[in-house]
Amino acid sequence: MRQIVFISGKGGTGKSTLVASLSLLVRNKMLADCDVDAPNLHLLVKGNLIQKQDYSGAKIARNNMDLCITCGKCREVCRFHAISEDYEIDPLKCEGCAACRVVCPTDAMDLVDVKTGETYVTQTDRGTFSHARLEIGAEGSGKLVTEVRKNLADFQQDEDWVLIDGSPGIGCVVIASITGTDVVVAVAEPTPTGRHDLDRVLSVADHFRVPSFVCINKYDLNLTLTEEIISDCQKRGVPVIGRIPYEPAIVKALQQGQTPVEAHLESIVEPIKALWQQLVNFLESPKK
Ligand code: SF4
Ligand code: SF4
Repeated sequence: MRQIVFISGKGGTGKSTLVASLSLLVRNKMLADCDVDAPNLHLLVKGNLIQKQDYSGAKIARNNMDLCITCGKCREVCRFHAISEDYEIDPLKCEGCAACRVVCPTDAMDLVDVKTGETYVTQTDRGTFSHARLEIGAEGSGKLVTEVRKNLADFQQDEDWVLIDGSPGIGCVVIASITGTDVVVAVAEPTPTGRHDLDRVLSVADHFRVPSFVCINKYDLNLTLTEEIISDCQKRGVPVIGRIPYEPAIVKALQQGQTPVEAHLESIVEPIKALWQQLVNFLESPKK
């Protein structure tokens, strides 16, 4: 099984639309949405929920008042002012730093898991799909991304491909998205920040020695910057395998929950097919 992760320097570059389109074009695959901070692949890939689990990505303090001797040491040490005068913990202020537990002379303070999200596995007509949702205000983490990928692996049968909608940026969520994959496809738009962000995400892929490819979305909105991005990629030795034009009809299609494939937007679908073929050629070449 080959794992292909689609990443970007920032959100909104169109990588989820690309993955959703490929989910209709590629046979015998599984899907994962590792963009846990802003998951949206589920809006384009629907199915029946077959597994739902709570995710605990944080801890908060809990005071056992049976053991508490109200010495006040925990309040003194709490930088986040999360402990009230009657020694109750404010869950919205507690950062789980454990300082209160360290100073507590009676072991009254403990740290407990707090639910920060849910993970889901959905059975779709395009294959098994693993994704997650964070509680409002909760922060994404590499641990949750790893959980999404692990859940998918639990349902693996004899699929040939895993298509991963990765996290944007260069933080730990991206590293967790990339780790163990066969290929990275970085999706960028031809803007000055898009060019800069692309350079950063390609550096992350380089660092983890995962072969990279680039897809430029809406390339025709700024042909000069598109050429500059292509030149950057040539210098890096990273092939540009996709150039997808801007198609105004995409907005309406996405609003209706349709991928470009379902909306028959051939100006987008043809480059996506060509991109996939180049990935297959690379992964199936004898040199690989
Ligand atoms: S440090 Fe421990 S014993 Fe002292 S007030 Fe806090 S919880 Fe109670
Ligand atoms: S875990 Fe840290 S933030 Fe939370 S109550 Fe204890 S000292 Fe304060």
